[in-house]
Amino acid sequence: MAFTVDEAKLWLINLNKIYQQEKMYLSELDQAIGDGDHGINMARGFNELNKKLETAEYHTTADLFKDAGMVLLSKVGGASGPLYGTAFIKAGGALKDKEEVTKEELAAALFESLEGLKLRGKARLEDKTMLDVWIPAIEFLQNHPKVDWDEFKKLVKEKMEGTKKLEAKKGRASYLGIRSVGHIDPGAASSYLLFVELARVCEG
Ligand code: ADP
Ligand code: MG
Ligand code: MG
Repeated sequence: MAFTVDEAKLWLINLNKIYQQEKMYLSELDQAIGDGDHGINMARGFNELNKKLETAEYHTTADLFKDAGMVLLSKVGGASGPLYGTAFIKAGGALKDKEEVTKEELAAALFESLEGLKLRGKARLEDKTMLDVWIPAIEFLQNHPKVDWDEFKKLVKEKMEGTKKLEAKKGRASYLGIRSVGHIDPGAASSYLLFVELARVCEG
């Protein structure tokens, strides 16, 4: 099964729409345990990316992802900007200049994204960050060459909701210590939206 440049582009264009729609929700999550700007950050970054996608033409998913990463890195700001930026730049690097990308290669590229996230943010599983969605999501993709996308969506939802019970150990929310318990992590929520939209695009 192929993952085409057009599908990759559609994913990012749809993500922009979703982050504009969910801007308030994501910022509300961040108001509870951070500085209340996560929705604003994501909406700004993806809006900039969308503008770029309207004019630029891409022949490879690698080039698309690299550019996306650069835009997110420079425009999202906060902790999440460099993290999402790194994720896309790493995925782009892993795909090199492949004309055709298989779903397996996409999974392998997203594994490199995850490695980049770990290196950059130094967070671990259950630190109440976006990694609590990323780690199980990538593990699932790598363990299921033929992905059941409904199962995948169920898993990422569970993991996103599972951040509620965790105490934050990284990022701004960690300043709250035990008081961070009882709230969904904003970055886990934006990553959940990212993976659900990937599933939708891959389902066709
Ligand atoms: P900021 O905290 O700088 O205002 P955002 O609000 O945009 O940035 O993003 C906050 C999110 O970033 C958190 O909810 C968390 O998921 C993620 N995050 C913060 N620090 C780290 C880290 N070290 N590793 C992984 N994710 C992190
Ligand atoms: Mg914030
Ligand atoms: Mg901030």
